[in-house]
Amino acid sequence: MNSNRYDNMKYNKTGNSGLLLPAISLGLWNNFGSVDVYDNMVDMAKTAFNLGITHFDLANNYGPVPGSAEENFGRMLKTTFDGYRDELVISSKAGYRMWAGPYGEWGSRKYLISSLDQSLKRMGLEYVDIFYSHRFDPNTPLEETMGALDSIVKQGKALYVGISSYNVEQTQMASDILNKLGTPCVIHQPNYNMLNRTLENGLSDVLEQKGIGIIAFCPLAQGLLTDKYLTDIPADSRIAKPTGTLNSNAITPQIIEKLNKLNLIAQRRGQSLAQMALVWALEVGKLTSVLIGASKSKQIVENVKALDNMQFTKQELSEIEEVLK
Ligand code: NDP
Repeated sequence: MNSNRYDNMKYNKTGNSGLLLPAISLGLWNNFGSVDVYDNMVDMAKTAFNLGITHFDLANNYGPVPGSAEENFGRMLKTTFDGYRDELVISSKAGYRMWAGPYGEWGSRKYLISSLDQSLKRMGLEYVDIFYSHRFDPNTPLEETMGALDSIVKQGKALYVGISSYNVEQTQMASDILNKLGTPCVIHQPNYNMLNRTLENGLSDVLEQKGIGIIAFCPLAQGLLTDKYLTDIPADSRIAKPTGTLNSNAITPQIIEKLNKLNLIAQRRGQSLAQMALVWALEVGKLTSVLIGASKSKQIVENVKALDNMQFTKQELSEIEEVLK
């Protein structure tokens, strides 16, 4: 590993906790499954770590096949990252369908605890750094879901806990319950990017009040906010990939027009559209970290370079608002 890997990354405090996260983190939702090329994953993970990306985000169901991203990451932990466990922040989650029957999804104590045990086994870990409730469960008392997160920390299977895609009210309740249990919610993982600004409708204020950090997933809207779809759908894109999670319906003439306008603003800033979208999200969303995905190492290199220019003029911000309206 490069000895200068910590020199240029920015590390932000995660809410009120003592945990520092890199401004850019890497997620293993796409391109790390059993259907993907292992050497490419290793190359991406190593490139990320060598650029100061210490945080890798997983979930029980990442693949395909579900579970295989954790298995592949576990393999890397024994080889590429052998000896580096204490320099890594590894997260996992449970909430979506993982196995058959009534105990394989949502937010019961039964599901969350057994799912994390399975994740730990797949990754060959004794604990994860952050464990998330991946989605709010309307049919389980929130006290039970949060109680399971608290037990997981007290059992030493996770150091910190977080929630993902909980709305304003659900977040307030979850945080209050966790505070009473003595295991604060340190992080929220919402979808946030230039094309999805739900976070700004009250959630961001609640998170700030409660001292909860924010790590945004899909900060590039799964690749839309890059220069790859400005004219057509390239063959090596998430849309074209059979196991990709982005549908071609996402590409409309209106979106293409917006992306091209944003791209011109980015060019004037001396950045790619991806770079501008990432620093815009960090600044405007007051984020702890943006959780990017990648299909190639060179995308990670490009994205980390975004941090070289994080300042926006008032003029640029209002031009961006005009396009996003
Ligand atoms: P992004 O919005 O960052 O999209 C990543 C994709 O964009 C890449 O796979 C690549 O796709 C393309 N891309 C990235 N950088 C560039 C670049 N510089 N130039 C051109 N194309 C680029 O994030 P993801 O949608 O991948 O999500 C990131 C992470 O967020 C996930 O891995 C997961 O950890 C987390 N997540 C959490 C969810 C939750 O419910 N909590 C839900 C979804 C994600 P291509 O294949 O086209 O090259």
